[in-house]
Amino acid sequence: MKFETRSVHVGVDKDSAYNSATTPIYPTSTFSWDNLTTNRGFDYTRSGNPTRSALEENIASLEGGTQCRATSTGMSAIVTTLHLFKPGDHIIAGDDIYGGTYRLFSDVFTRMGLKFSFVKMRDLSKLEAAITPETKCIWIETPSNPLMNLVDIEAITAIAKKSNIITIADNTFMSPYLQRPFEFGVDVIVHSTTKYLNGHSDVVGGCVVTRDDELSQKIAYTVNALGLGCSPFDAWLILRGIKTLGPRMQAHQRAAMAVAEMLDGHPNVEHVYYPGLESHPQHALAKKQQDGFGAMLSFDIKGGRAEAEKVFERSELFLLAESLGGVESLMEYPETMSHASMTLEARRQAGITEKTIRVSIGIEHPDDLVADLKQALDF
Ligand SMILES: *Cc1c(COP(=O)(O)O)cnc(C)c1O
Repeated sequence: MKFETRSVHVGVDKDSAYNSATTPIYPTSTFSWDNLTTNRGFDYTRSGNPTRSALEENIASLEGGTQCRATSTGMSAIVTTLHLFKPGDHIIAGDDIYGGTYRLFSDVFTRMGLKFSFVKMRDLSKLEAAITPETKCIWIETPSNPLMNLVDIEAITAIAKKSNIITIADNTFMSPYLQRPFEFGVDVIVHSTTKYLNGHSDVVGGCVVTRDDELSQKIAYTVNALGLGCSPFDAWLILRGIKTLGPRMQAHQRAAMAVAEMLDGHPNVEHVYYPGLESHPQHALAKKQQDGFGAMLSFDIKGGRAEAEKVFERSELFLLAESLGGVESLMEYPETMSHASMTLEARRQAGITEKTIRVSIGIEHPDDLVADLKQALDF
């Protein structure tokens, strides 16, 4: 079955009692046993729940994996994967990964004895130079946030395989509709389902997808042992959101391209970061490993913080908010919002300045979004 069909159907038909068209929510902590040795497949919701299982089956299918564990947040999905490693193990990640992931790596798990290097992953020689005998994992996030730098997934997994290194990809920005890292040799995929998978800005969630039995077992064990599973209510919302993932991504991208093209020619815009523009230095790579260009983009305005402030004030359609992937368009200022936890020096090194504005394009009509941003930029 094709992607859109699987989005709607896989895992969904769970109600054998009444044949409801949607998956019921099972808000129960425990399940009674038929006798001392048999239950109906579930015993306790931390360990497993039918609504959560339905979501897991669905996402595993969309990513082309065999197993999925749905977690309470994207961060808890990432925490789960870090338990594949032990103190002394070394993990290499990009220097422009999601801020929350950077904090988890550089602070929380560094205190627990894991070692991290943050490198410019676009430069494969820098990646290879960072590999040591202790390196156990390469963390892939593409495109990056907020400047939409891509990394070549296939090239990185080839390097990793030579040294028996696990690759983990955070596929949140693209969603499986636009990018499926397993096809390029990645071992484990994580998502913040808060973003495109749920798509309606009304839940936080995450997941870990695997296709290797040993890794799957370790991930399932950790989610249960640490108690990181997604609640049945949240699982139900995310499963509902996923049914429209394909059509939503199409609408998101259509609007994103229109906005990117307008910005590209606007006299008050200095630079646009969007892989869909032919001027993007990795446009060809985007075409190779993605099925589309997504709906996240950033731009540098001519001017500084005062002008940026005017853009936020003048816009009537874009909400001034962090996060991404919802049906409503959002606009935010990495300098004081999404990337404020980075040091000023780290921000500048990554190329984030007071000119930089990040937008998550929703599914509103492209004409309205273009018109609103155009007038907002008329500062
Ligand atoms: C939002 C996000 C996360 C964290 O997910 P939460 O659901 O907020 O915990 C991780 N990675 C990326 C790329 C994200 O955008």
